[in-house]
Amino acid sequence: MTDAAANELLRSLLRDDDRAALSDIFGARVRFDEPLADYTSWKIGGPADAFALVETTGELAALLRFGFKRKLPWFVLGSGSNLLVGDGGIRGIVLRLGGEFARIEIEDESAAVVVRAGASSSLALLTAQAASRGAVGIGALAGIPGSVGGALRMNAGTDREIGDFVRDVLVQTPAKPQPHPVSPQYFYRHTTLEHDAVVASVTLAFERGEPAVVRKEMQSRLVRRKKTQPLQLPNAGSCFRNPPGDKAGRLIEAAGAKGWRHGGAEVSPLHGNFIVNDGTATAADVATLLARVRGAVAERFGVEMELEVHFVGVFA
Ligand SMILES: Cc1cc2nc3c(=O)[nH]c(=O)nc-3n(C[C@H](O)[C@H](O)[C@H](O)COP(=O)(O)OP(=O)(O)OC[C@H]3O[C@@H](n4cnc5c(N)ncnc54)[C@H](O)[C@@H]3O)c2cc1C
Repeated sequence: MTDAAANELLRSLLRDDDRAALSDIFGARVRFDEPLADYTSWKIGGPADAFALVETTGELAALLRFGFKRKLPWFVLGSGSNLLVGDGGIRGIVLRLGGEFARIEIEDESAAVVVRAGASSSLALLTAQAASRGAVGIGALAGIPGSVGGALRMNAGTDREIGDFVRDVLVQTPAKPQPHPVSPQYFYRHTTLEHDAVVASVTLAFERGEPAVVRKEMQSRLVRRKKTQPLQLPNAGSCFRNPPGDKAGRLIEAAGAKGWRHGGAEVSPLHGNFIVNDGTATAADVATLLARVRGAVAERFGVEMELEVHFVGVFA
């Protein structure tokens, strides 16, 4: 790629009047050319042209209408625990939900624990609160970092997934900016949710059990995670999806890739499917290491692993 082409990829898409319009909607809650590393669990990522903290469904509707009218790309960032943001950052608007989207309400129905959660609420907080009400199965979501909206988009989980518990989902889209229900299908680490749908809130329903039993099961899962995952260094959890009938971590270890490094990125010696950042890694380091690991597994076992982490932004 020529220098001119690379520079073009790094140039902000926002005009002065776009910045003014966004400042009118969000005031101090919009920042321009904001580095994204602090908003991702990998602590990696270049600047967003605009980074807006959206606190109400009305503000989200206004932002989606604005982006649509101006043909500006936008990206919804949850807690950034499943993302590799390119060193060149993200062109257009990055939006993050907060405010009214952070609410969690729990109700008891005759035999069920029903949780209504805004998309920016913390999955960790939700699991802790639901466990204390005896929500059977919630342990499967315990210890997964991130927001409820991100979990829904990813169909996050372990032996059971968030989709197993969904009763309803409200989304907002550029074509239909007010919150409205949708019924996506859930698959292993992905859903049929439209790509331009922003999850606003989710209702989950669990069978009601004995809170002490549910909490104990959850606790033992959290302890197991601490022993098997390199949680001291920035990471994004499992990088590759498990191929059918196998484990990506097992294949990576068997390919001899544990401990491989590129720049500040390392394949964790503790868990082969985790790449950790020693504090100096760039997105390019991680991407290069991921490609090397994927190549080694393909060559050794003939298995083409698929990425679980989402790549977003400019990697040039
Ligand atoms: C230590 C560690 C352990 C992990 N363990 C697990 C595990 O056991 N199981 C598992 O499944 N995952 C695991 N993960 C991965 C990650 O935590 C999950 O994928 C999580 O659900 C991502 O949520 P997030 O809010 O961080 O989303 P982000 O990483 O911010 O975004 C992920 C995707 O969701 C989209 N998104 C975010 N919010 C919304 C919204 N409101 N509406 C529409 N789309 C949205 C983003 O655009 C992006 O495409 C782990 C990660 C870490 C760091």
